[in-house]
Amino acid sequence: MKISAIRVYQVDLPLVEGRYSWSEGKYVEVFDSTVVELVTDDGLSGYGEVCPLGPFYLPAFGPGARAGIGELSATLLGQDPTALGPINQLMDMALLGHPYVKSAIDMACWDLLGKVTGKSVCDLMGGKFGDSVTLYRAISQRPTDEMAENVAAHRKDGYTRFQLKVGGNPGDDIDRIHAVADILTEGEVLVADANTGWRVDDAIRVVNAVRDRDVYIEQPCRSYEHCLTVRRRTSLPFILDENIDGIDALLRGHADGAMDVINLKISKVGGLTRARQIRDLCVTLNLPMTIEDSWGGDIITAAIAHLAHSTPEWLRFSATDFNSYVTVRNASGAPTRTAGHMKASDEPGLGITPDMAVLGKPVAEYT
Ligand code: MG
Repeated sequence: MKISAIRVYQVDLPLVEGRYSWSEGKYVEVFDSTVVELVTDDGLSGYGEVCPLGPFYLPAFGPGARAGIGELSATLLGQDPTALGPINQLMDMALLGHPYVKSAIDMACWDLLGKVTGKSVCDLMGGKFGDSVTLYRAISQRPTDEMAENVAAHRKDGYTRFQLKVGGNPGDDIDRIHAVADILTEGEVLVADANTGWRVDDAIRVVNAVRDRDVYIEQPCRSYEHCLTVRRRTSLPFILDENIDGIDALLRGHADGAMDVINLKISKVGGLTRARQIRDLCVTLNLPMTIEDSWGGDIITAAIAHLAHSTPEWLRFSATDFNSYVTVRNASGAPTRTAGHMKASDEPGLGITPDMAVLGKPVAEYT
């Protein structure tokens, strides 16, 4: 089997809540998602998606994804998409870095491998653990009262895990954490994610002021070293996200005792192949994971479900159903949230069928 054509689609994904806001005043109202279709010489198509969280969250942006796929197209045409090791090596040889560009391509290769073998990506990744995957809900940064109200509203959707977007003014963030901790009920989990937004002194003020609350602190500062300083000044459980961008960072963090949980985003590490490597290493290290991506629609939500559902429950901290945050459905067959949980499809590959009317005409085609 060979890749005979690569089609690239651009899809806008507006938010149900209108706006998603996080640290340092950053926000997105319409996500710029890229879908890649790998067409093979025997008539199959595999699909992948990449959707950066705006251009200022990680070093990634929508037009960059599309330009990068174009850059890789000549390398990919004629290659066997089911040979995931060689495909990833070829992409790394042709384009240094740019993991998010490679993520959608690698995802489409997994979709094709599943279609060829008749197995779901979840089964190819080791098989299902448990009936379903527990989801968390990100609570966009708003005034304190609104964030507490939004937690209460999302609790009605069945969510039991909430990730507060902090990383703003430390005094306001202390109020936000207390206000939500006050209304938590038995069994619910609270994370305060600063998304690199605090200076070290800000972060230390916050962790000291909430030291007696049941809350995880996620990625307080931009640099790993600053996060480690904060980590050593608090007894609260600690999550690293933006700094854990590959196996080297994971091993360093593990050796330093820098975190209790990591956030594993598929496109941050270059696709499902690399995410699975990191997932498997975390299983060996007994390190829990939130499994997700930077953002996405139905195709990314399906990919998250396959990776998360094939991860032991004991080490599955949470996952994300991005397709319930946005107003546009770019594929059918993706998981839909039921009582705060989702399941990976048993259908071959990712188990999704793209909605070609939503994808529209390709913005680029390489043959
Ligand atoms: Mg995070």
